[in-house]
Amino acid sequence: MTGRRGQRPPVPERLAVPVVDAHTHLDACGCVDADDVAAMVDRAQAAGVKRVITVADDIASANWVAEASTWDDRVFAAVALHPTRTTTFTESDRATLEALARRPRVVAIGETGLDYYWDHSPPHAQHEAFRWHIDLAKRVGKPLMIHDRDAHEDILRILREEGAPATVVFHCFSGDEEFAARCVDAGYVLSFAGTVTFRNAAGLRAAAKVVPADQMLVETDAPFLTPHPFRGRPNEPYCAAYTVRDLAELRGEPVDELAGALTATAERVFRLASA
Ligand SMILES: [Zn+2]
Repeated sequence: MTGRRGQRPPVPERLAVPVVDAHTHLDACGCVDADDVAAMVDRAQAAGVKRVITVADDIASANWVAEASTWDDRVFAAVALHPTRTTTFTESDRATLEALARRPRVVAIGETGLDYYWDHSPPHAQHEAFRWHIDLAKRVGKPLMIHDRDAHEDILRILREEGAPATVVFHCFSGDEEFAARCVDAGYVLSFAGTVTFRNAAGLRAAAKVVPADQMLVETDAPFLTPHPFRGRPNEPYCAAYTVRDLAELRGEPVDELAGALTATAERVFRLASA
């Protein structure tokens, strides 16, 4: 890699209380095999990001994340077909996802939801796939991990119409304080990515102040959304440590206290053994 822009941010000082990166894409970060995964998770652990949930966005990725979660006991998986990829969603795709979703190290159904920013898949196809994933989460008894891009109202409406699963996570939460309050009232869990550290994200930063820590997670969504002050550079799970420190400062809480609370939430939401 050449130039500062292409360089990974430095690995920050280790968090005294470890956290879980609740949403990342190890395959999109460049991992292929077990050695790659171990190296990336070692780097995360060096920053106090002790466990990660690697998330699929298509069927090939779903197979990969389910396998990768068996290579390293610090890695868990989530499977779904991303809303932007729902133009075709065959019976065989559905059967594959359902079988993977029942595996013990697959801890969530995601990422699913609606994306009205990109024009890759028509709304009716996205709605049908989202409803199917909601039902899958209920059938397998696992949390639903939602991708919501410019689709707040339809997400809430469809959850209401279908009946939400017991646990709903808004990955890379992107709403303002008012939308956050509605999600919190509904009992949903809000996962904050590097976007919450962006200095021009006033609405999102206000939202992060009003969410109780027992309904809050931290994630990287790597390789995208690298936190401040490294915006634009490659992201990896270890960068969750930057977001945790920034969130603690924003909320006026000690870092260790927030990290402990975020980990307790992740363990409850994804039913991870405490570590
Ligand atoms: Zn993602």
